[in-house]
Amino acid sequence: MQNLLVASTNVGKLKEYRELMADLPVNWLSLQDVGLAHMEVEETGDTFRANALLKAEAYCAASKLPTLADDSGIVVDALGGAPGVYSARYAPTAEERNAKLIHALEGVPFERRTARFVAVIALVLPDQVTIIAEGRVEGHVGLEPRGTNGFGYDPVLVLDDGRTMAELSSAEKNQISHRGRALAKLHPILHCLFG
Ligand code: IMP
Repeated sequence: MQNLLVASTNVGKLKEYRELMADLPVNWLSLQDVGLAHMEVEETGDTFRANALLKAEAYCAASKLPTLADDSGIVVDALGGAPGVYSARYAPTAEERNAKLIHALEGVPFERRTARFVAVIALVLPDQVTIIAEGRVEGHVGLEPRGTNGFGYDPVLVLDDGRTMAELSSAEKNQISHRGRALAKLHPILHCLFG
């Protein structure tokens, strides 16, 4: 089995990676698994791509393992793209972030609350090979949070069928999510490299 580091301490994300790539002969390791949970990499980039690359390169250098890192967030058109790369830092807790987002859109009608989740995944191999994949899922910011599955902004992104991301089962979310779509693009490459 090939060891592959997922440069994240977010258990929700790691679970999604393991589910989405279950068919690959890869041992998915977290930062805790390789003793690097203490190592902070500042997300100083102003794009998802720059931050994903920063993290993957730094943790690959530290672990000497093939490393996947992603940067993701919610992009809201009526807020000029905010919170975007600042999604994780928008407010201290997920509940507060969702409440702040809904408050920021007060008075904006549903049809103008268009938004998307974006995920950029960088795969960096110790011999300086880098592969980037991006995935998106489009929706609208709801008028109130709904649903208890998933994590983060899932309760506020309303999909075309009227459900929020937090009202999908994890299998349904993995099928259509930004991270699921980015990983689907990476899958054949991971298969070639490690399959
Ligand atoms: P990061 O990619 O770990 O920096 O996360 C960026 C922010 O986007 C965090 O606040 C996450 O909770 C949020 N986020 C990332 N992926 C998802 C998702 O699949 N659903 C909901 N929120 C997400």
